[in-house]
Parts: sequence; structure tokens; C-alpha cells
Amino acid sequence: MIALAAPLLSSISGYWAGAFQDLSALPQLDVFDPASGALLATVPQMGALEARLAVESAAARLRSPPNLPERGRILSNIEAGLLAEQEQFAELITRENGKPLAEARAEVAYAAGFFRDARRHLDALQPKTLPTRPRGLTWRVHHRPAGVAALITPWNFPMGMLAKKLAGAIAGGCPSVVKPSEITPLSTIAWFAQLHALGLPPGLVNLVFGDAAAIGKVLCSHPAVRVLSFTGSTAVGALLSQQAAPHFKRLSLELGGNAPFLVFEDADLDTAVDALMANKFRNTGQTCVCANRVYVARAIAEPFVSAVAARVRALRAGPGMEAGVDIGPMIDARGYAKVHSHVQDALAMGATLVVGGSGDPAQRFFPPTLLTGITPTMACASEETFGPVIAISVFDDEDAMVQAADDTPYGLAAYVFTADRARADRVVAQLHFGHVAVNTGSGPTPEVPFGGFRCSGLGREGGAEGVMEYVELQTVPWGPAVG
Ligand code: ADP
Repeated sequence: MIALAAPLLSSISGYWAGAFQDLSALPQLDVFDPASGALLATVPQMGALEARLAVESAAARLRSPPNLPERGRILSNIEAGLLAEQEQFAELITRENGKPLAEARAEVAYAAGFFRDARRHLDALQPKTLPTRPRGLTWRVHHRPAGVAALITPWNFPMGMLAKKLAGAIAGGCPSVVKPSEITPLSTIAWFAQLHALGLPPGLVNLVFGDAAAIGKVLCSHPAVRVLSFTGSTAVGALLSQQAAPHFKRLSLELGGNAPFLVFEDADLDTAVDALMANKFRNTGQTCVCANRVYVARAIAEPFVSAVAARVRALRAGPGMEAGVDIGPMIDARGYAKVHSHVQDALAMGATLVVGGSGDPAQRFFPPTLLTGITPTMACASEETFGPVIAISVFDDEDAMVQAADDTPYGLAAYVFTADRARADRVVAQLHFGHVAVNTGSGPTPEVPFGGFRCSGLGREGGAEGVMEYVELQTVPWGPAVG
């Protein structure tokens, strides 16, 4: 087992009723370092019973949720705590997820940003009195905590994805039950040790993990849970929607992406190449906003491909804890096998391998790869590859390129590169994606709402909208005063 230098990880367990629980009698799950396969830790495998206890702890807190000033203080303290222990959290993220340490540090800072931003929206949650008196009555609108929030997070940004949800839930006054991915639970457990030390009101935050399906069923069906916020695969998102539907829970789902990246002939080549490299290879291509389909105008295809090829060749893959590493390992053998199969499929269907290749499925580091000649029926065009592969198709005209880019059931992120403002406006309006970046590869930031169109999900995270996901509006008409 690797020794983890993380004082915050002294208790590895579930957390509810304001305390880490003694779950040593439960079966244990192994957590591995994806860069080496070494065992990092064992964690208790919780199930339905523990999920119910966690929900009940949250439900008890719902009877006296923090008021607005208290929420403000809690959000500030969490932001400060994340920044104070940025290095410790970053190391845990890199150990369990594999991403380069610099990216993990950025993730912790990104996480802190959601708490900073959520605090700014607390004023909007003050009760509002209608300035007019329809029906001769005084009308007030309250923003009530929606109920217990179940927050289910993935392995690719273990702290960033939780931060989006937790900041909104706390700002809205909702106690939450957090369920991190069993592949990367350690940074979340360490974060809970810090939340405990901050002295949060017992029951405001609770933590379970283990048998995801059993825990998920409880979270979807328990009457106290009113908001279900999930980031992960489309298949699991669909399952959770079905399970939650009979109970009419509010759903906030951030699912798969299949992002297109469009480069028109008038684009600034250096800008587009830089943006593609930063966007595509972050977290080894395992992000839902990273470019999955690259469409390039024929007039600039040759210089674009050769510039990208030079940059891909120069990438250094290695363990995220090592200095100078650009990309880390694949998260696991399943992730590796999917990327391998997408490359094989593309080559079998006539794509050209410019850099990299399919690698050895027994390895952990997939070679950074560049393919050209991609057609829509190839797996790497119709599904998210979720790995370090750039897949390029060449187009002759704007309409055809935009149609191909938009021809997907998904709608999370898209990227457009052009020097022509009118064209940018025209193309953005035709792309049915929740986030469309122009001349930048930037993903979302905590200050703005982010979420998907179509099968990429429901609801928004970040900005004022991300807080409102956790709030129910209660309208109160006041008749003549009594007594
Ligand atoms: P990925 O394939 O990227 O790992 P998943 O959708 O499987 O994405 O995982 C995202 C989150 O959903 C993780 O926390 C995982 O444990 C959880 N999860 C997986 N299956 C279920 C389920 N049946 N019910 C509830 N949560 C689940």
C-alpha cells in the first residue's frame, strides 16, 4: 500500500449525524493508484442501510436549516478551507485519479470558486414582497430549502464536481447526502474531515459510498430526498431518472457530451491549436467538455493537422506526481479498453493514424493519438471516446460542418473558431449545446450557469441558477392581520 501524506485522511469511513461512523465490520473496497496499480487504501462498502441513516441525519437537519447569514459564513469557511489545504487535496486527487498535480491544484481552486460565487447569490434568497397588492392582498415569496439533496459525483473531477453541487445545496439551505465515485472516494473523505473540523451543523453534510446501486435506490426513493443531482454516465443518469420519477424529485443531471470543435478557414491557427491541446488533453481527455469531434475547413486542414501533430508528439505521459508530465494514466482498464477500441474501429474503417496508436491494453498510459479521415459512423464520432485521442474530419462548407457538429443526441459543450463575428453568431445560434465557446477552449467557470441541452442533462450548476436548483418558491398571500 502507498503511504498517503494526508493528515485529513485519518478517518476513512462514512459520515452522518455530525461524525465519522465506525463501519469496520463492513466488507472493504480497494482504492487503487491508476498510475501504478498500487493499493492506496481500503474503504468500507456501505449499502442501503447506511444510505438511509445518512438521509435521516440530513432530514433531521432540515427541521432547522442554517439561516442566510449562517450559510454565508459556512460557504466562506469552506472556500477558505479548500484553499488552505490545496496541496493536500491536490495530492489526494492526483493519487486516486491520476491527473498531473498542476491540474489537481487547479481543480481545488476551481472547487473553492463555487463557494465564493454561491455566497454572492444569498441576497437573492431573501423573501420578496410584491410592490403591488393584487386582490387587495400582500403577497410574499419565500425561497425555501427544497429538501434533502442527494449529490452523486464521478471520478474525473472528484472535488470540482462535488463543489458545484454542495455550494448550491448549502446556499439553498439544503442538507445533503454525498455519494462520491468508489474509484475516487479519498479526496471527498478528506474534505469531510475538514468540514467536520469547521463545525458545520450536524446533519448538514453526510457521506456514503460503496454499493452504488443499492445506495442510489435509497436516494431515489426516500421521501425526504427532494433534489437528486448527478454527474456521470448517460446510462446511470437515465436509470436514476426512472427510479426518481414516481417520487417527482427535482433532477439535476450532467451527462455525456460528445463536444464538437469547429475550426473555420478564417480562424487564427495558433489560437485554435493551443485551445485544442489544452481542452482535449486535460485529465487525459477524460472530461465531458473536452473536444471529441474536431471539424476543420479544408483550406487550412494541412497546416492545422501538422501543427497539432507536432504538439501531440511532444506530450509527455506519466504519473501525475512526476514533474513535467502533461497527461496521466487512464482511470482504469475499462477506460483504456474503450479508447483502444475506438482507435481500432476508426483505423478499420479507413481513418489515418498521424500520431500515437492503439498502445498495449495491458498498459495504463494511452499514447496521445491523432487520427484524421474520421467519418460519422466511426465509434469515435458517435460516442465520447474519453481519452487522449484527437479525431479530425475535414469539411468544405460552413453549413455542412455545422450540421455534422449538431448531429448528436448530446448537447453539453461546443467550440467555434473564426475571425468573422457574424459567422460566429450564426454558428453559435445553430448549435444546440449548453456551453458554446468562441475562439477559446474554455470550459465553465463557477460564476456562470453550466449544463446540457438534449441528452446531456437537466438543470444548471454554477451562478445564481445553480443555487436556485436547491430552492422551492413558496407564495404567501396575506389577508387582513389577525389579533
Ligand atoms: P463512469 O462510467 O464515468 O464511472 P458512472 O455513471 O458509472 O460513470 O458513475 C458516476 C457516479 O454514479 C459514481 O458515483 C457511481 O458510483 C454512481 N453510480 C453508478 N451506478 C449507479 C447506480 N445504479 N445508482 C446510483 N449511482 C450510481
